[in-house]
Amino acid sequence: MQKKYLLAPGPTPVPERALAEMALPIIHHRAPEYSVVLQEVRDNLKYLFQTKNEVLIFTSSGTGAMEGCVSNLLSKGDRAIAVRGGKFGERWFDICKAYSVDVQAIDVEWGHAVSPKAIEDALNKDPKIKAVYIQASETSTGVYHPVKEIAEIVKKRENTILIVDAITALGVVNIPQDEWGIDVVVTGSQKALMLPPGLAFASLNEKAWSFVEKSDLPKYYFNFKKEKKSLEKNQNAYTPNVQLIVGLREILKEIKEEGLEHVFKRHANLANATRKAVQALGLKLYPSDEPSNALTAAWAPDGIDAGKITKLIREKYGITIAGGQDAVKGKIFRIAHLGYAGCFDVITVISALEAVLKELGYKFETGTGLKAAQEALFGN
Ligand SMILES: *Cc1c(COP(=O)(O)O)cnc(C)c1O
Repeated sequence: MQKKYLLAPGPTPVPERALAEMALPIIHHRAPEYSVVLQEVRDNLKYLFQTKNEVLIFTSSGTGAMEGCVSNLLSKGDRAIAVRGGKFGERWFDICKAYSVDVQAIDVEWGHAVSPKAIEDALNKDPKIKAVYIQASETSTGVYHPVKEIAEIVKKRENTILIVDAITALGVVNIPQDEWGIDVVVTGSQKALMLPPGLAFASLNEKAWSFVEKSDLPKYYFNFKKEKKSLEKNQNAYTPNVQLIVGLREILKEIKEEGLEHVFKRHANLANATRKAVQALGLKLYPSDEPSNALTAAWAPDGIDAGKITKLIREKYGITIAGGQDAVKGKIFRIAHLGYAGCFDVITVISALEAVLKELGYKFETGTGLKAAQEALFGN
């Protein structure tokens, strides 16, 4: 038997308490006991999103809520911007295209963050742009985009809204939706929410809801108005993934017990230790701008295929991390430290990384990365 560790940026490990809850017999989604669960989930989602908005819940992967944020917010012929600095930015662009939205990409070199000025300039040039689509944490590159500053720019414009895919940012770093004035925040269950894949969320402020009122793009399953109406009666429009909702109740309870501030601090500490360890090994971090605290993306050493690192680490040590995609396939690897993650996950993965790098012929003093991680985590 080989012990397995899931340290990829989604899906992430599920805490034992949530697993136990989800193993209980299924309850009926129209029964009163389900409504009690949903009421608690609705309340605590507001705590997580730091909002007064009703947080919409869909049974789908995160992309479902992303798609809904195009089909429910825009109308035929509308113009939009998608920040394209990685796989998930491309997804915003592609969804807009699929709905015939007149979308313009702000292309950002992979590994870099978008400059708020580029967005301000684009909006000044074309005041008709109705929506700006962006990631907070671009999981494919490990970069954090300055969404707070961008919200300040978009907020001033009456006819433009900002939609933030925060799938690896919400519950990792502080993104207070109401305080920052972000119109729409999207997330999914299988990253910082520590659940299996299958739930997607979107939180819309009043300005965004006014866009929903005017939207004429085709929609059926992802119908925001319909979902909101159902939720207000502690129901879902269609059969939800009941087991995941039950798990979510437990997760949100645990997040509240820990407290958001501590959740953010824990992620910052794990990210800091992982970055320090990787750099102590002589490897270069991939992001050139502010890195996301959800994961550490780093270049493989010269002459070593990053794909070999991820493969060996999985096959020999049972640890799943992620490789790079597209242009950086085989060049970078990505270690997640989000959700149900603690200091010994960092120790485990750095230890295995050292073993694998040694095996692949990379020269360094054994324990260099571990020492840096331990110093960062334990302060000695
Ligand atoms: C995981 C992820 C998604 C959603 O992908 P799904 O596979 O549809 O759940 C979207 N955006 C980002 C930034 C992600 O990390």
